[in-house]
Amino acid sequence: MNDAAPKAPPVVEFRGDVSKTFNAGTSKAYTAIHHINFRIEDEPGRGEFIAMIGPSGCGKSTLLNLIAGFSTHLPPTTGEVLIRGNPVTGPGRDRGMIFQRYSSFPNRTVLQNVTFGLEIHRRELDLTSASINDMAMDWIKKVGLSGHENKYPSQLSGGMQQRVAIARSLILRPSIILMDEPFSALDEPTRIGMQRLIIDLWHDIKATVFLVTHSITEAVYLGDRVWIFTKGPGTIAVEIKDLIPPSQGVDPLQMQERPEFKVALEAVAREFKRVTG
Ligand code: ADP
Ligand code: MG
Repeated sequence: MNDAAPKAPPVVEFRGDVSKTFNAGTSKAYTAIHHINFRIEDEPGRGEFIAMIGPSGCGKSTLLNLIAGFSTHLPPTTGEVLIRGNPVTGPGRDRGMIFQRYSSFPNRTVLQNVTFGLEIHRRELDLTSASINDMAMDWIKKVGLSGHENKYPSQLSGGMQQRVAIARSLILRPSIILMDEPFSALDEPTRIGMQRLIIDLWHDIKATVFLVTHSITEAVYLGDRVWIFTKGPGTIAVEIKDLIPPSQGVDPLQMQERPEFKVALEAVAREFKRVTG
């Protein structure tokens, strides 16, 4: 048999010891990350969930911003950042970013925020106004905001604003979702609701997710792999996989009560202390 399809390139690959030194060559030169090498393989019908934890300032956001392709961060100082085999040269519709701070437009309603991305790409996506509206209403429902379509972000709670940001980003069905401490500003019950939502949506759109969090519990609950970073300049010191069975359909609070979850949490906490202590 020689008819096997060629293996698809990794969804995301950092190779050749990726580093980022800001203000390189000046007295203010600062290396945020170094020696970063990894491959996230393309698994058809399923994306991986990578949870990243590490001390503040160790370069987690820098790594996400390199994948996002922001001009403030490109190119890496050494090494290569590849998406599906191609060097990242800028942002793209294949990547969606969700920040800690609500990134919605204050002067647009919920509906207008959610339709925004589709309107920008309307031509290439060949969409009518009616279909854009329908898709937006569908996403508003998915994130639990039905009935709030015509409100402005300032009229919503923090958790609801973050739901708008999630709908706004995921409506474009990015194959890579980048989340930078997305739930850090939310209170605990709201945060748990968001974890449940993100697990459901992630399975639905089958994206590869990179999540930065400072909650070890959140990393263990959400991550297929957990990366622990060293202090800056950051590098991935430890990768832990297969911690707990998949979380889909299991409530975060129930999962956290299970003995195997507690064992996993202790193991990751121990490694975190060892690496960053
Ligand atoms: P983390 O997200 O892990 O807290 P960051 O990636 O935000 O860390 O930052 C890592 C280090 O790089 C920090 O010391 C930060 O001050 C520095 N840094 C980040 N962005 C820039 C920039 N544009 N110019 C200069 N230094 C930066
Ligand atoms: Mg950060």
